[in-house]
Amino acid sequence: MKNVVVLAGGVGGSRFLLGMRDQLRAQHPDATLTAIVNTADDLWLAGLRITPDLDTVLYTLAGLNDTQRGWGRVGETERVSAELAAWGIGHPWFTLGDLDLSASIARTSWLREGVPLHEVVSRLQARWPIGVRLLPATDEEAETHVVVDDPDRPGSELSLHFQEWWTRYRASLPALRFEQLGLAEAHPAPGVLDALAAAELIVLAPSNPVVSIDTILAIPGLREALRASPAPVVGVSPIIGGAVVRGMADACLTAIGVATDAAAAARHYGARSGAASGRNTSVGVLDGWLVDEVDASVAAPLTAEGIETRAVPLWMRDPATSAAIAAAALELAEQLLRDDR
Ligand code: GDP
Ligand code: CA
Repeated sequence: MKNVVVLAGGVGGSRFLLGMRDQLRAQHPDATLTAIVNTADDLWLAGLRITPDLDTVLYTLAGLNDTQRGWGRVGETERVSAELAAWGIGHPWFTLGDLDLSASIARTSWLREGVPLHEVVSRLQARWPIGVRLLPATDEEAETHVVVDDPDRPGSELSLHFQEWWTRYRASLPALRFEQLGLAEAHPAPGVLDALAAAELIVLAPSNPVVSIDTILAIPGLREALRASPAPVVGVSPIIGGAVVRGMADACLTAIGVATDAAAAARHYGARSGAASGRNTSVGVLDGWLVDEVDASVAAPLTAEGIETRAVPLWMRDPATSAAIAAAALELAEQLLRDDR
């Protein structure tokens, strides 16, 4: 397993990537780790292009993230945001620290010069030796919107940018449906399909299945590339004991009719072998799945459906617990390869 590719969102994705990087360094010092990061949460704010998941992953791997607050950089000040608020620019529910804003200014400046996002990401990450190659899922702007009943105009629908629904309303307005604007016309960023084709292991991080992983898989060519890969595809459950651990991802699953449990999430992704009874049977991507020990009872039925499932501790409390999960994913992948022979 010298070439590992991880599909990731923000918080869950970055914690897992940290563990996978450390585990690979210990097991295979010459291994390469590539992260294909969700861009469907990105937005324009105060004239700047903001990329929340890419930033969370970058700051976490660089050791610069604010672990207390859960987002942004450690030791932040918010002088610029305070000034912008006085001008009435931006949104009161989406504050960005000064250091965070400087990254967004750099990013936007390059984008306006015509530099594509994947090259922008490569320039931003060049500042720190993070040990992971970060790729945006796509260079194009394709954003998740959430359709809700308009709280101010009963009887009519309102389409909110995902960040507004998530951050301003804390996902408390029931989602009628998700709209992926531009995703069906988007292209994988340069490097994404090559990374998947060269992978010896592909991992779906324990990220939000609906708005972090599905939004990557929905880019035309992505799901097909996973299904065509000779590498095992192993997913890590973002759900433990019927709860989403951190955040409000259950609101997203509920909106698409998927139960908040580790087995339903696996069936949602579907077995690549096509033996699963889930709704994605014909387009499944998983060979293996890791669930927490409290969910051990789902291992046998999922395995019978073609998703080889193992129960291991899945709480990512620190880099060591995340690395143990990465080790379990590597071990399961090696076993899947042995069984294949
Ligand atoms: P976001 O983009 O910041 O929302 O982050 P992601 O989409 O990458 O991940 C969010 C999801 O990570 C949450 O909905 C949780 O289900 C999952 N998650 C967070 N912490 C843990 C953990 O310690 N263990 C596991 N298994 N999942 C976690
Ligand atoms: Ca996100």
